[in-house]
Amino acid sequence: MTEETASPDPKTLALCPECQAGVLHLQQITYFTWLNSELVTVPNFPAWVCDVCGRREYDERAVIWLNTLLNPDAGRRLPAHRRPGRSARPRPVRPQP
Ligand SMILES: [Zn+2]
Repeated sequence: MTEETASPDPKTLALCPECQAGVLHLQQITYFTWLNSELVTVPNFPAWVCDVCGRREYDERAVIWLNTLLNPDAGRRLPAHRRPGRSARPRPVRPQP
């Protein structure tokens, strides 16, 4: 008799750091975060939820992605070599005699 139960895919299973007994499962939850003074809700956000204590571990890459979206300074690290609009404006065509 062994305590080991057949785990279907050990790579996708993570032991809960909170209760050390549950297993984290990937679920789609609604993520709440504050952007300045506004509450932002993100539906269908990937998170790892413990099946015993209910602890939530948000998917790290998804959080980084979300912060990049919400943080207006995130995209300003690169030098502004792309000017929107200015150089791409079409010249008015004058009819020549
Ligand atoms: Zn747990």
